[in-house]
Amino acid sequence: MSTVFVEPEPGTVYLVGSGPGDPGLLTITAKQLLERADTVLHDRLPGSRIIGMIPESRREDVGKHASGKRTTQPEINRRMVNLARQGHSVVRLKGGDPFVFGRGGEEAEFLAAHGVPFEVVPAVTSATAAPGVAGIPVTHRDHASSVSFVTGHEDPTKAESAVNWEALAETDGTIVVLMGVNRLPDYTGVLLETGMDPETPVALVERATWPNQQVAMGTLETIVDVRDDVGITPPAVTVIGEVAATRELLADFLRNDYSDTDEDS
Ligand code: SAH
Repeated sequence: MSTVFVEPEPGTVYLVGSGPGDPGLLTITAKQLLERADTVLHDRLPGSRIIGMIPESRREDVGKHASGKRTTQPEINRRMVNLARQGHSVVRLKGGDPFVFGRGGEEAEFLAAHGVPFEVVPAVTSATAAPGVAGIPVTHRDHASSVSFVTGHEDPTKAESAVNWEALAETDGTIVVLMGVNRLPDYTGVLLETGMDPETPVALVERATWPNQQVAMGTLETIVDVRDDVGITPPAVTVIGEVAATRELLADFLRNDYSDTDEDS
């Protein structure tokens, strides 16, 4: 597909990432597809500035039913297939990058299994962008030679936890946790138990690139209290590792500021 001028194909689904929320961080392809696709299926994560760019007549919120109930993943999958079979060009718009958490992989598998052609439009993921706009490089020659993106959604204390926190602690690299606000006490607790330094810097970046962005700094030992004092709520990423301290060195000159942009959600 040309990246300069995109004409969406009827009967095709585009799995498109919106980036972290600032419309300036949409890819050119994503913007053109939002302007031209017959139907855009979205949830709330892209934010009202990006969702507001799509005419109401061509967009459908598949995050929640009007009743307030969450649309189930099978319902979203079926909707994509049905629209494509009716000949629509369909954008499935997802926050951040479509294949970093958020079930983009499952949606692609479903489309393939049902014989629906689709295209993946990669995007800026919050896993790197949220630390980035807070002045935190996820790797740094002096502090971290690797970075792991993990889900904080699971109970890290259960025996069959899908995330091996002990192994992550041993890498000495940066750990970026998505969906990890509520279970912060659980996984920081596990990391402390494995012997990770309690002074390890930790940052929480909430609603990165949104006007109400918040950044909170602490250590592995203090970050739960910091979260509660500052009032950090989802969506936010947790950055664990020496790189988090870089923010303090940069803060005076860091000019990322989204506070005067218009966002109502
Ligand atoms: N595909 C997305 C992630 C989806 S999972 C991506 O690549 O960014 C949802 C999680 O993403 C949230 O719980 C949060 O951890 C993170 N997230 C998404 N947008 C964010 C933002 N603007 N600021 C901070 N975290 C964000």
